[in-house]
Amino acid sequence: AAKAAGKNCVRTTGEALDRVVDRRARLARDLPDAIVDGGLSLALQPIVGVEEGRVLGLEALVRWRHPELGDVPPEEFVGVAEDEGLVVPLQRWVLGAATAALAPLLAQGRDLELGVNVSVRHLQAGCLAADVARALAASGVPASRLMLEITESVLVEAEDRVERELAALREAGCMISIDDFGKGHSTLARLSRLPVDVLKMDRDFVAHIEDDPRTAAVVASVVELGRTLGLDVVAEGVETPGQLSVLRGLGCRFLQGYLLGRPVPTADLPAVLAAPYAGVLDGDRLPSQV
Ligand code: C2E
Ligand code: MG
Ligand code: MG
Ligand code: MG
Repeated sequence: AAKAAGKNCVRTTGEALDRVVDRRARLARDLPDAIVDGGLSLALQPIVGVEEGRVLGLEALVRWRHPELGDVPPEEFVGVAEDEGLVVPLQRWVLGAATAALAPLLAQGRDLELGVNVSVRHLQAGCLAADVARALAASGVPASRLMLEITESVLVEAEDRVERELAALREAGCMISIDDFGKGHSTLARLSRLPVDVLKMDRDFVAHIEDDPRTAAVVASVVELGRTLGLDVVAEGVETPGQLSVLRGLGCRFLQGYLLGRPVPTADLPAVLAAPYAGVLDGDRLPSQV
């Protein structure tokens, strides 16, 4: 029986592996068309200023609804794009769509910044700065409105070429943020030398901020670090009023998370921007009312 079960087990694992390989191959095959044929969309999530009591920025998050497989998580298909040499066309699409979504809001006189996630492969390809410049020119969005979000792990291993691209983007007037900060292991020495403007604190910290005093202490020191280095600190993944009030108490001035607003399609942005954030921040309004 044990032998049969063992055999069964091996077979099940084999089939599961086949399914993973099949799915990946399928995504790799279908992604190029999705990029050029309108298969992708953007969701935009608000970033809220505690002191300002309003939406200061929007993070663009790419979405792909596969006709048969349904919604594919961005982490999965961005990974496929990176492995298949598709990341440059993918990111060009994101940059074009995100700046096109922001432009009419700026034209209405709204004061908003735009966060776009960047892949290290695009940095390594050496054309990110040029692709950003093209998207800004096409949309009329000023460079000073664009923040490029780069994960911490990228910066740890940053090569000369990556650093040159980052420097070029910053010279052009864009902002750079370190995404998922605290998840990786950048050294403080390195951080102080990097050309960055914003730290986006990983949501794992926020998730444990209420029940673990050590986490709260770490968050407090990240906020302090930001102050010392002149970097804004954004807390990601704020889901509860309790988390919000601890973060405020620790002096964290910029918040992002489901409590303040889920990522929404471009069409829903006017409603998000009209939401009464001051009320949420004062704690007298439930998230479901936003
Ligand atoms: P990220 O850049 O750290 O984006 C934040 C993620 O956290 C998003 O997931 C967002 O929907 C989710 N999130 C926001 N608030 C909350 C919350 O309160 N609770 C929880 N549990 N989650 C929250 P999403 O959209 O699934 O994206 C996942 C990751 O995929 C992103 O993490 C980013 O690394 C990557 N990604 C998304 N769009 C792009 C893109 O256009 N290009 C690249 N290269 N990567 C992208
Ligand atoms: Mg991000
Ligand atoms: Mg993040
Ligand atoms: Mg992430």
